[in-house]
Amino acid sequence: MPATTYKNLIGGEWVTARTGSTFQNLSPANHDDVIGIFQASGAKDVDAAVTAAAEAFKSWRLVPAPKRAEILYRTGELLTRRKEQYAREMTREMGKVLSETRGDVQEAIDTAYYMAGEGRRLFGQTTPSELQNKFAMSVRMPVGVIGMIAPWNFPMAIPSWKLFPALVCGNTCVIKPAEDTPLSTFNLVQTLIDAGLPPGVVNIVTGFGPDAGAPLVEHPGVRAVSFTGSSEVGRIIGQTAAGLFKPCSLEMGGKNAMIVLDDANLDLALDGAVWGAFGTTGQRCTATSRIIVQKGVVKEFTKRLVERAKALKIGDGLDESIQMGPQVNEQQIETSARYCEIARKEGAKLLTGGRRPARGAFGRGTFFEPTVFGGVKPQMRIAQEEVFGPVVSVLECRSFDEALEIANGIQYGLSTALYSRDVNHAFKAMRDLEAGITYINAPTIGAEVHLPFGGVKQTGNGHREGGTGALDFYTTWKSVYVDYSDK
Ligand code: NAP
Repeated sequence: MPATTYKNLIGGEWVTARTGSTFQNLSPANHDDVIGIFQASGAKDVDAAVTAAAEAFKSWRLVPAPKRAEILYRTGELLTRRKEQYAREMTREMGKVLSETRGDVQEAIDTAYYMAGEGRRLFGQTTPSELQNKFAMSVRMPVGVIGMIAPWNFPMAIPSWKLFPALVCGNTCVIKPAEDTPLSTFNLVQTLIDAGLPPGVVNIVTGFGPDAGAPLVEHPGVRAVSFTGSSEVGRIIGQTAAGLFKPCSLEMGGKNAMIVLDDANLDLALDGAVWGAFGTTGQRCTATSRIIVQKGVVKEFTKRLVERAKALKIGDGLDESIQMGPQVNEQQIETSARYCEIARKEGAKLLTGGRRPARGAFGRGTFFEPTVFGGVKPQMRIAQEEVFGPVVSVLECRSFDEALEIANGIQYGLSTALYSRDVNHAFKAMRDLEAGITYINAPTIGAEVHLPFGGVKQTGNGHREGGTGALDFYTTWKSVYVDYSDK
């Protein structure tokens, strides 16, 4: 059967790109499986989408927030009904196993319901005026057209974190999904349309970052930019937006530490380490990539971690028995292999994995073996730089204080975890770990939608997704004074 061709969504119409170019999206588990043909858009397509979004903003901003919220509520209901179908399509599209893609769709469902509730809570403030016969209050106003640029690792959850708060606040949107996962964004937006979203309120432009993403950031009609992706691309986007005095939310990379102390429940810590390091094939911004283990348990922990990594069942995530799917593309495999080479040269000890499985072992896909390095030192590149693959490093520490120092000694600050039975250590970790998120006796992954999500240092620029914090980015404050003296 010939592959389906998907078009851009602009002003409620499905249209081909003005560039006349398309690209193919292949399943990472099997390159013979073509997911679809998508538009390779350029600046003119972005301009048409922003124009449509600006037109739609004129009426969408006037729809009462509780009514906008009803559309999100219906979206949550429809997504619930379509969850299995969308999860299967996502596994085909980006490779993570079915249990995880079900979780990805569930995150969008949770976000829909959560943000639907916010439609009745877009609170401002009333304050006593300094003057007699005067009323003072603040109200949240929508920002306008928001440009959104998303990565491929949570292809439905991350767009939902951006779209749903933006919509409930009265903004209109142009979204550019990652070229590896446009189908999941189409599924999300189709659901919004089926739930009653008016034409032009959300527009999709597919294509490559420099061709379709960059013009979106630069477009004068785009009033704010929400980006999730690597720190390298985030830096470029942040600099462009700053030059245009455009608000910009940057959610970027991580190099997340898990600390395991001598008094930890080792069974629990091992479960957390395996799930944190190899879930989503290590391709999570919150993936556990450094495990800092106290010297009393480091030998036993490492031995058992290696056994668990070796036992993982790798393959096509559509098979329910599979525990780790492929990496998303050839480039990600090359990055994993390159970092394994760097680690070996730096003197780290490869304990298992470190290469692609034998050609053909899992069909025509982009697989990489679950990899554990031991004897890693804090300053090695494998302990400092984001790999974004199934590669984890074990570092030994003498004390809890040294563990904190190692954990904090990097440029990133997204997620952290501590395994210990000592409540004093738990509270100190919460206070002293330099990160946006700290888990106690749980892995570095597993954020929930009602709390702020984001990081410090080079992981983010201070904005947060999730929770009510997201509303701060998608609204602007207006102060209103009503003078009711009749003189
Ligand atoms: P990426 O390479 O930075 O790409 C992210 C998005 O930016 C894609 O849609 C990409 O388009 C686009 N892009 C690339 N160059 C651009 C440019 N010059 N101008 C505008 N847009 C451009 O990241 P990725 O490989 O998709 O995702 C992995 C990274 O995301 C990791 O570093 C991970 O830690 C991070 N991440 C962070 C969070 C968080 O919340 N902190 C969550 C998930 C992922 P293409 O379609 O061409 O790639």
